[in-house]
Amino acid sequence: MRKPVMAGNWKMNCDNEEAEELANGVTARAGLNEKVQVVLCPPATALTTVGKVIANSNIALGAQNMFWEESGAYTGELSAQMLLSCGCEYVIVGHSERRGRFGSVDEDEADDLAAVFGDTDATVNRKARAALAAGLKPIICCGELLAERQEGKTDEVVVAQVKAALEGISADDLANVTFAYEPVWAIGTGEVCDADEANRVCELIRGTVGDMYSADLADEMRVLYGGSVKPANVRGLMEQEHIDGGLVGGASLDADSFGELITAAEEIRGQ
Ligand code: PEP
Repeated sequence: MRKPVMAGNWKMNCDNEEAEELANGVTARAGLNEKVQVVLCPPATALTTVGKVIANSNIALGAQNMFWEESGAYTGELSAQMLLSCGCEYVIVGHSERRGRFGSVDEDEADDLAAVFGDTDATVNRKARAALAAGLKPIICCGELLAERQEGKTDEVVVAQVKAALEGISADDLANVTFAYEPVWAIGTGEVCDADEANRVCELIRGTVGDMYSADLADEMRVLYGGSVKPANVRGLMEQEHIDGGLVGGASLDADSFGELITAAEEIRGQ
């Protein structure tokens, strides 16, 4: 059985003081939870701070991004080894905000941001492979833009992203991979994907992995949903067969809200 995951992506929020307070709040509510794998992904500047707060709990630490090289002249980048040395177990790879896939904001701004961050299917694959080689567990994000959904290309886009992300990854390493289906139009917009449709795409991801590896391995792999998950909609999502948890932005910045998401995951999917 797949243990559910509730991962909080704090994005570019929280200085060290705020991060400590939020991590304390989550630890007080869910630190000893054994039925849900809670993951906190603070900004890199707060990894050590949050790592100390959750040190004696069951909560895992995750980073929001990484670079695939081990060291060198890559100003501003962080290697897998550096993240491990901060206590990270997980790393988010290929978030749409890093891929520059901003389907719901002003197009000019989207182009600018794509140029700044610019993750592609190829860099996402390199990051995922480097993470696994170093012993980090990647949470690989995939998902379509609004225009792609409107053009009926959701399945094509998601399957292509999944296949590209997994290129060269062994069956053994697949055990440490988690996917997050994050339709770009649902991220930070308040517009959640219909639970049945989110389940359908998560099943598609599992099926794609099944075709590439085996049905058994795909069955063990966790697939999360991300995109405006909040206490009001989490239960409908967690009741879906192929949704093993959430990658949560906004609602993870409030310990009460995030605690409610964890409780829902535990009640519906915890074994
Ligand atoms: C995310 O950051 O991955 C995300 C899904 O954000 P939000 O929950 O705010 O939509």
